[in-house]
Amino acid sequence: MDFRTIIAKRREGMVHSKEELAFLANGAAKGEIPDYQLSAWLMAAYLKPLTDQETADLTVAMTDTGDRLDLSGVPKPWVDKHSTGGVGDKTTLVLGPLLAACGLSVIKMSGRGLGITGGTIDKLQAIPGFSSDLTPKKMIAQAKKIGIALAGQTSHLAPADKALYALRDVTETVSSLPLIVSSILSKKLAGGAETVILDVKCGSGSFNPTREHAEKLADALVAVGKQTGLRTFAAITDMDQPLGCAVGNALEVKEAIEVLTKPEAELSGNTKRFRELCRYYGAIALRVSGIAPNAAEALARIEDTLQSGRALEKANEWIKAQGATVDFSETSWLVQAPIQIPLHSKQAGCVGKVDARTIGEIALDLGAGRKKKDDEIDLSAGLEIHVKVGDLIGDNHHLATVHAATQELADAALVRLSHAIQIQTAPIPPRPILIRPA
Ligand code: URA
Repeated sequence: MDFRTIIAKRREGMVHSKEELAFLANGAAKGEIPDYQLSAWLMAAYLKPLTDQETADLTVAMTDTGDRLDLSGVPKPWVDKHSTGGVGDKTTLVLGPLLAACGLSVIKMSGRGLGITGGTIDKLQAIPGFSSDLTPKKMIAQAKKIGIALAGQTSHLAPADKALYALRDVTETVSSLPLIVSSILSKKLAGGAETVILDVKCGSGSFNPTREHAEKLADALVAVGKQTGLRTFAAITDMDQPLGCAVGNALEVKEAIEVLTKPEAELSGNTKRFRELCRYYGAIALRVSGIAPNAAEALARIEDTLQSGRALEKANEWIKAQGATVDFSETSWLVQAPIQIPLHSKQAGCVGKVDARTIGEIALDLGAGRKKKDDEIDLSAGLEIHVKVGDLIGDNHHLATVHAATQELADAALVRLSHAIQIQTAPIPPRPILIRPA
């Protein structure tokens, strides 16, 4: 097959055959199709989106480029939770150990940052010694032993997605709905999942700027999931403002540790909002897996597992099993940026906007994410946002803190940040975290 024909077909919006999609997925996985041709196809697919059938065929073709984990020996229930990606989304760091501590087996493949959204694998790099480079055999053995294993994309599992994901990140083709669906679901299938809970983000800091787009994505994930044999649930949550307070790798690990170690009353408003999201998805996972008979019991169990310290204990067991030389009982080992500068309000009023997109872009400029696929990440760089929409604040209120490698980077970030957080005179209500339940 000549890949130029496949590019041309996509450009004209023609329907691909299963064989063509398998050729594409295999060529991407084996590095046999050059990046410039794959990039051309990605842009064509962005402009002429794949149909649901093509998306399902591409999903299966991408899965078949690698192994499928055979989880048959891993104790049930297994549930996988995945986010479509957002600014400050560190949910897996809390939810993974929380669910494992509740008796579920959590086996998860996570990605690197994509566009302005951070990736779990990058965040985990901020934990000294932690390795996300697990073979399928090791993943299964670890999950059997401690109930949780998390790996980055390897050459074993959905390698086609690894190749395409890195190119989408740098060709502005991330937000194509069929490409997101096939990327997420191919990893879930390869990871042996049966039940998947999807957190579809909606708002400026996600790939779904509008509710309409988010709903289409949620529905497509459920429909294509079903076509490929997965039981999928999708809720839509707010991503117009960042999730939680921290944006940036080490800062986000610190915030996740706070949720695992501190009572809710000691958390800041933004971190409470992040905790609420973890509780919501935790409770859904317990319900759909049959561990809890109803919503109230599921929530009570999640709350008890967090407050008793069992989730923290499981988190420590998990990171140690993957090589960490530190634990979550304290955070002095986290890298810190040499420059830390606060931003204060110039007027009293109500926080009208905390623009997640701009904040994601600022974090990227500070080095917290990649602009090119081989860029090094500055693990210590990022932002802490201390206010959320609806907060009433006084003059000179501490709005945010910039964490940067140099004064020059910090100064540029501060200028943009002062526009990203808008203060208005008229009060507005806080934004609920949940937009559409699963
Ligand atoms: N998460 C993924 O795994 N893939 C995407 O394309 C977007 C979010």
